Amino acid sequence: MRRALSREALHHRGREFKALFDELGASLKRLFRTSGEILLMTGSGTAAMESSVVNLLSAGDEAIVISTGFFGERFAEILAAYGARPILLQRPLGESADSDEIVRSLREHPGAKAVFLQHAETSTGVLNDIEAASRAVRENSDALVVVDAISSLGVERLEMDAWGLDAVLSASQKGLMNAPGLSFAALSPRALKRLDEARLPRFYLDWRTMRHHAPLGQTPYTPATPLFAGQLEALRLIEREGLENVWSRAVKLSRFALESAQALGFSPLARHPAHGLSALLPPEGEDAGRLVEALREDGIWIAHGQKQLKGKIVRLAHMGHIRKADVARAFAALEARLGRPSQPVRA
Ligand SMILES: *Cc1c(COP(=O)(O)O)cnc(C)c1O
Repeated sequence: MRRALSREALHHRGREFKALFDELGASLKRLFRTSGEILLMTGSGTAAMESSVVNLLSAGDEAIVISTGFFGERFAEILAAYGARPILLQRPLGESADSDEIVRSLREHPGAKAVFLQHAETSTGVLNDIEAASRAVRENSDALVVVDAISSLGVERLEMDAWGLDAVLSASQKGLMNAPGLSFAALSPRALKRLDEARLPRFYLDWRTMRHHAPLGQTPYTPATPLFAGQLEALRLIEREGLENVWSRAVKLSRFALESAQALGFSPLARHPAHGLSALLPPEGEDAGRLVEALREDGIWIAHGQKQLKGKIVRLAHMGHIRKADVARAFAALEARLGRPSQPVRA
């Protein structure tokens, strides 16, 4: 994958790029479990999030946004920035999306054009039952189901067509093990139909222009070609292992991480934890922020909480390339760092 990233640049209107583009598209369809269309965008995951808003909604449209953390709030911010009206279903901290609440909200807002939610909410480690949420939407309205699978694709079981999802968004740098900068939108026929009705302004992220170029094996503007090559290599690793095996490995690794955490007195913030990362409350009296910094001194990169969770939790990724030995090493380092005074003692 690293070799592919550093290869000589491909010309993005040439035959070689078209072959790469086509193969990547085909592989992504298998990954998203869809026969729908996949659009590839140069831009991080947030570009894919924004593209779903501007291509599926019109000004003044109501849409339900389920927030199980920071990235859910981001959807609401994007909608508001474009003059759509987010109906925010803010879940209590650590709780997943609730289908009954979705149904109630759809009854109160029968005109809602879409329901936006995260599959795995990376800020809180919450996993949402997308299949159940989608069923609840489908049985009660014509709203589109838009899923942020940015940190779940290639980690969690996701069945786009079987679960009736309309737009599924992802990005290169999390479970898909590539460098950052590429993002994806997988679209159902219903989403493609909405594309022609939506009236929000858009240009760089206009899915219509992307669809127009896709049959040529091209993107409308200059793509990040090294990332396309790197992504194909990373997807080959997933295909070689087998998607079912990748998913079950994530479940096992997550179980190992949670057991290791609990043995040290940490507890998961999420009631239904995502399998690609663990958001952990430290044992009583321990300072989460200090632990994150201490591990960085040990050469182990775990993450702080975001916004109001900063200093309250530690977040440990175990997706993509990360293996059991890496997780074990992180917990050994955490164990060694526990129980120290919260102010560094200087000699
Ligand atoms: C990382 C992430 C994003 C944002 O992606 P960027 O690539 O940083 O723009 C959005 N949603 C989720 C769930 C994420 O994990």
